[in-house]
Amino acid sequence: MAFKLPPLPYKEDALEPHISANTMGFHYGKHHQTYVDKLNDLVKGTEFEKQALEEIIKATAGKADKLGIFNNAAQTWNHTFFWNSMAPKGGGKPKGSLKDKIEKDLGGLDKFKESFTQAALTQFGSGWAWLVVDPSGALKVGKSSNADLPIVHNHVPLLTCDVWEHAYYLDYQNRRPDFVAAFLEKLVNWDFAQKNLDEALKAIAA
Ligand code: MN
Repeated sequence: MAFKLPPLPYKEDALEPHISANTMGFHYGKHHQTYVDKLNDLVKGTEFEKQALEEIIKATAGKADKLGIFNNAAQTWNHTFFWNSMAPKGGGKPKGSLKDKIEKDLGGLDKFKESFTQAALTQFGSGWAWLVVDPSGALKVGKSSNADLPIVHNHVPLLTCDVWEHAYYLDYQNRRPDFVAAFLEKLVNWDFAQKNLDEALKAIAA
């Protein structure tokens, strides 16, 4: 069973003008596809060939001799999660239990946006900014380098923003702050974060 590039949850031009169809064409159609293709090449004929993506990620994390498999598996996972972290009519405010939790754990929506922006802008080089649930059930904001991701650090991700240059360079050039602001104000999918929060808290309570 080879891994397949999952369909985008919206059309390539659906996030315009904040993310262009041109960027999506390269980022989803070329970069994400290449991670999937390289992963398939690397796992062919190995013990990983029949494993689920998350199993491969957890089995190869931190192993120097499996770095290529980890990087391509994690980037395959991260990009699918990133596409779902955005929506064509995204932005606005979280509601319900997510809103309450952001107030309680992170000091409110404005403070969350400040922390998330800080994480995204201080990630030197390639990486990701995250909103996660930690093992105690508390929300945290963080960042990771290259392909690294919360699920190998015992955190459950709710949202992510890709801050590799390929995510924004065609539309924003070097202006990562403008891209991150567009993500938070116009694109972020709070319904996806709420669904992930509900599942994370249910798993912690079980
Ligand atoms: Mn990317």
